[in-house]
Amino acid sequence: MSTSTPQQLWIAALGELQVRLARPVFDTFLKDTIALHAEGSCLVVGTESPFVAEYLEKRLSGAIEHTVEGLAHRPLEVRFQVTSDGAPTDRDGHAAAEAQAPAANEVAPTQPSAPASAPLNGRYSFDSFVVGSSNELANAAAVAAASSPGLKYNPVFLYSGVGLGKTHLLHAVGHQMAGNGMRVLYVSSDQFTTEFVGSIREGRAQQFRAKYQGADALLIDDVQLLSGKERTQEGLFNIFNELHSRNRQIVIAADRPPKALTTLEDRLRSRFEWGLIADIQPPDVETRLAILRAKADRMGFNVPDEVLEIIGRRIIGSVRELEGQLNRVVAHADLTGQPVTVELAARAMAGQGGGPDREPVGAEALLSAVAQLYRTNAEAMKGRRRDRPTTHARHVAMYLLREETRHSLSEIGRLLGGRDHSTVHHACEKIETQINIDPAVCREVISVREALAQPATGRSAT
Ligand code: ADP
Ligand code: MG
Repeated sequence: MSTSTPQQLWIAALGELQVRLARPVFDTFLKDTIALHAEGSCLVVGTESPFVAEYLEKRLSGAIEHTVEGLAHRPLEVRFQVTSDGAPTDRDGHAAAEAQAPAANEVAPTQPSAPASAPLNGRYSFDSFVVGSSNELANAAAVAAASSPGLKYNPVFLYSGVGLGKTHLLHAVGHQMAGNGMRVLYVSSDQFTTEFVGSIREGRAQQFRAKYQGADALLIDDVQLLSGKERTQEGLFNIFNELHSRNRQIVIAADRPPKALTTLEDRLRSRFEWGLIADIQPPDVETRLAILRAKADRMGFNVPDEVLEIIGRRIIGSVRELEGQLNRVVAHADLTGQPVTVELAARAMAGQGGGPDREPVGAEALLSAVAQLYRTNAEAMKGRRRDRPTTHARHVAMYLLREETRHSLSEIGRLLGGRDHSTVHHACEKIETQINIDPAVCREVISVREALAQPATGRSAT
């Protein structure tokens, strides 16, 4: 595979790693990384937070270097760096500042200084955005915002389900405006909240406002996440008014239209309706094929049309999933040294209806990985003990068996000492909830998945 620039090399490496690692590990730690530059035999990769950088360094650097070296055909060290220099977006569209770890609620972690814009992803440009009937209005609105900021539609409000290109369009607006010398602030709503709350606590409210009010454009992503954060909403409301009254462009993305953002304050919601509201629908098959063609070409892989057809006809949901599936097929070919054919694609995508493709995990291997993490043993998890640690381990095992294997709930119950399927169902629901609210549980689950995924590194993916 020919990989010339550090960016191309890293995109190819991500394609492989996506196949090799468990999906939550990939999504959490790698998905949003970008190649910054190469220095001699060292590839420098940017991450959005110190936590991610540290995790990658400590836990995944072996697998990552192995992958990168395999692609580059030479020894390479991979270093991770938090993208932070406070400067506006650079030439390659890489950014500018330290992205904050999302705040779980309005309590912000301490942060030394206010960040500028969050990183803009170099891949997310108007050029690489494929336009079809499902997204043409949103695209046109974003183009108008970027070319005549503050003049045509203000704000532009984009909404859609996940993985359909909202963030891509926000970044594209950011690139174009930054390219024209304008000061652009792109933030996720989580980051905005973190910064806002931190600025108040540390008596920097004035600086916070000054920073936002000094922007030529504010691009704010996922505003549904401001739900229930009244003070932050008020902060945004004030900034919105200030920017709007001076014809500074505002572009907002959310997972639903302003009217349906019922947990936001009315006055904020009504501001969101002042300009142009555009939705993005899932792409039709033609657009899906065009997206796949563009991605395959950019990756520099020769993927025949009939293979793209198979992927494009099968994956009907999000564009993100479409990309993931293409990466999977391409990596499959690359790892096994075979050309990308219809048969290979079918094999790569076999039995997963669009979900992640990994070798099926054995139930016993999974149980022992869970037991090891919680310092217990499989027999205890299968037995009758009801102390909290054992119960928790058992529940996590049930959850992971459901997620990682093809066993039915009843089979999982049998594997765990003859429990019935409704017990398994409840345990899975419980763990799923905990994963969303408790970072410790989330990390536990990730580490089991990682333990299960590690041996996969280097083995054939057929
Ligand atoms: P959202 O913010 O709506 O959840 P993203 O903007 O993150 O979605 O898009 C998910 C992935 O799909 C990104 O990698 C993005 O580049 C890609 N994508 C979405 N729509 C398009 C499109 N029309 N053309 C090319 N790539 C797209
Ligand atoms: Mg998004």
